[in-house]
Amino acid sequence: MPLYQNQELKIYNSLTGKKDVFKPINEGHIGMYVCGPTVYSNVHLGNVRTFLSFDMIFRYFKHLDYKVRFVRNITDAGHLENDADEGEDRIAKKARLEQIEPMEVVQMYTVDFHNILNKFNFLPPSIEPTATGHIIEQIEIIKTILDKGLAYEINGSVYFDVLKYNKTNHYGILSGRNIEDLIHNTRALDGQSDKKNPQDFALWKKAEPQHIMRWPSPWSDGFPGWHLECTAMSTKYLGEQFDIHGGGMDLKFPHHECEIAQAEVCNGKSPVNYWMHTNMLTLNGQKMAKSTGNNILPAEIFTGENNILKKPFSPSVTRFFMMQAHYRSILDFSSDALEASEKGFNKLMEAVNSLEKLPVSSSTDFDIKTWKNNCYNAMNDDFNTPILIAELFSAVKFINQVKDGKASVNQTDLDILTKTIHEFVFDVLGLENVDNCNGNGSNKLSDTVEVLIKLRAEARANKDFALSDKIRDELLSVGIQLKDGKDGTSFSTN
Ligand code: AMP
Ligand code: ZN
Repeated sequence: MPLYQNQELKIYNSLTGKKDVFKPINEGHIGMYVCGPTVYSNVHLGNVRTFLSFDMIFRYFKHLDYKVRFVRNITDAGHLENDADEGEDRIAKKARLEQIEPMEVVQMYTVDFHNILNKFNFLPPSIEPTATGHIIEQIEIIKTILDKGLAYEINGSVYFDVLKYNKTNHYGILSGRNIEDLIHNTRALDGQSDKKNPQDFALWKKAEPQHIMRWPSPWSDGFPGWHLECTAMSTKYLGEQFDIHGGGMDLKFPHHECEIAQAEVCNGKSPVNYWMHTNMLTLNGQKMAKSTGNNILPAEIFTGENNILKKPFSPSVTRFFMMQAHYRSILDFSSDALEASEKGFNKLMEAVNSLEKLPVSSSTDFDIKTWKNNCYNAMNDDFNTPILIAELFSAVKFINQVKDGKASVNQTDLDILTKTIHEFVFDVLGLENVDNCNGNGSNKLSDTVEVLIKLRAEARANKDFALSDKIRDELLSVGIQLKDGKDGTSFSTN
């Protein structure tokens, strides 16, 4: 029997504003769409947090024996600066500044995105479609919306008529806005826009002569509006109605609101049953963002090369740090918080490693069944990973007691304990039992390097520079680079 039949999963649904019991449209199958990155620069740790939350969710669904079609797109056109309808395309701007082709920008940062996600042990999505690969589908949707009278063409651009749509539907249903507030809060048009009303959004934009990223359409040589690609790709691969649509909270409005409006007009029904939104990773209390520069890159975490960091941290420790917070809570990044997570992570892994060597008795002093249920209850309560981790640590405590001869476990319970811990730690949380900075070494690497760093410091204190240099050079020859800073010596691997 598939595992999901024994579990009642509740998901916080942004559309209803409460935790709803999860029931997929087709039993045993899940269609999930997550808005992917706009590939015009390296992903920062905030982006990683959102994608990581959905990786954990994808993993839990798979663990429950669901067949999941997980679509996460690559935005490689149409996303303008400031998420608005005017201004330069983010990718085209980067291409102009770097004097390279827009598609070189796309290629470079898509590769970077994949590399980073691999380091964090992400599962690949089932489909990773691109906006530029679906221009035809987007044009078809625009034609339908025009036919239904909910869009208008002006000077080669096409806009969605929000006020007209709102007469029969609720524009703002997802973000809890109403049209009066929107009218009140949007700036008047500045004369540069062709829109009838400032609330309207672009479905197609006519390209200025200097705009390189352009495609032919019935209205002009131009490019699609940003919100359209997700409607095109989700409908194509998951159908007119599917189970889950996710993204960061900052995408709720206008991006997801517009997706609902587009799909409602095309198909006459709400496209998504469960809308899921992740909360932000902050740095110094402010949202991490590409545009403000208030961010940290994953590569900096692995090498420790950022003044914010006291030392480097492995991808698995970083992943564990993020899993210690619920995906709907704000999480503030700091070196101290990561260090605390590293201690917890090491403790957890030590316990996991000792499982196979635990002495076995005839009885068990731990209610394994209740504990296992608690683990599932935590995940079934809107993927509450901090509670799950707390449960894992009560198992760690028990394992250590058994190790110290203060408690006992029988073989049957030890087998259940081992299997359950492995499933939650490795399959669901996606942690890896390694701690080297590239995520591919052994547990003992950093301890060993720390010993050598200490010996080198002693050699220097004794003015034995021949020895201290030898330690540094030998480490370098095996790909470990020492870095002397004001807070001591750190290392990175390459
Ligand atoms: P972008 O490439 O800017 O479209 O962002 C990709 C994803 O990262 C979106 O789902 C954003 O909501 C999400 N995101 C951006 N900044 C943060 C942050 N500071 N914390 C968590 N998620 C973020
Ligand atoms: Zn999207």
